[in-house]
Amino acid sequence: WSSETIAVVTGGNRGIGFEISRQLAAHGLTVVLTSRDSNVGLEATNVLQEGGLNVIFHQLDVLDPLSIKQFSEWLQETYGGLDILVNNAGVNFNLGFDNSVEYAQKVVATNYFGTKNMIQAMIPLMKPSTTGARIVSVSSRLGRLNGRRNRLEDVTLRQQLGDLDLLSEELIDRTISNFLQQVEEGSWTSGGWPQTFTDYSVSKIAVNAYTRLMAKVLSDRPEGLKIYINCYCPGWVKTAMTGYAGNISAEEGADTGVWLALLPDQAITGKFFAERREINF
Ligand code: NDP
Repeated sequence: WSSETIAVVTGGNRGIGFEISRQLAAHGLTVVLTSRDSNVGLEATNVLQEGGLNVIFHQLDVLDPLSIKQFSEWLQETYGGLDILVNNAGVNFNLGFDNSVEYAQKVVATNYFGTKNMIQAMIPLMKPSTTGARIVSVSSRLGRLNGRRNRLEDVTLRQQLGDLDLLSEELIDRTISNFLQQVEEGSWTSGGWPQTFTDYSVSKIAVNAYTRLMAKVLSDRPEGLKIYINCYCPGWVKTAMTGYAGNISAEEGADTGVWLALLPDQAITGKFFAERREINF
């Protein structure tokens, strides 16, 4: 890796995204730290630059198509594209067994559609390379289909989303829209969804399924144009999202994401990781 390697991190102004930015830059890469709020993004970038790291700021709101477009154009003009995309931006409003319509929509939009928007926008900009370009999405064990606790209770849906042959973008999007419709109608509690952190869990189920799907879609790209895509759970991390109540630091939470982004083994794609080990979806 060198300063010629361009890594883009979403939601880089704080928490795990800030740490991923710092650690990637410490490996010698050029990191484009992005944030929806320019003030806090620039502040975070200054901190890393003052530490001697090669970090550049650009505004990016993963929910705003114009922001994504302007960012894409700037990235293309400035660096000719990118090598690594880290989808870290996310929100979570659930403190327990609750779902307001507004929160559910926001969580699903940011965590799933924001991630998907960025993947779609960045794929055409990913540079050719012998080691393969990389996409890493920060997901969660709360999005596991077959976890012992808090799993998707709808068995048919679980089978469909867990079977790569049945998985499609249409299925994932339909799942999301069914869920949001049930939240709007107030009928979601009987809908077979995960029992706690429900909208957040559903958003990460979708991120995980989309990761597997995109790995399959991207698999027929020729040598030299390969893109490897994986996701990971950072653990329960002391950040604003958890009210700083996690049991590990943001630095530790960033570790597996950075490891995946820089993994020398080229063939790993469409997998889910935690603590640098593969786990089941
Ligand atoms: P933080 O709340 O500290 O950071 C979230 C980041 O996402 C912030 O930079 C936030 O920006 C940004 N963000 C939110 N919405 C948007 C948007 N529309 N466009 C661009 N950026 C946006 O939380 P964490 O660092 O903990 O979370 C990072 C990721 O890790 C998330 O995807 C989260 O789901 C995941 N995760 C976290 C866990 C934990 O225990 N903390 C556990 C499992 C997964 P702003 O500052 O403007 O709000």
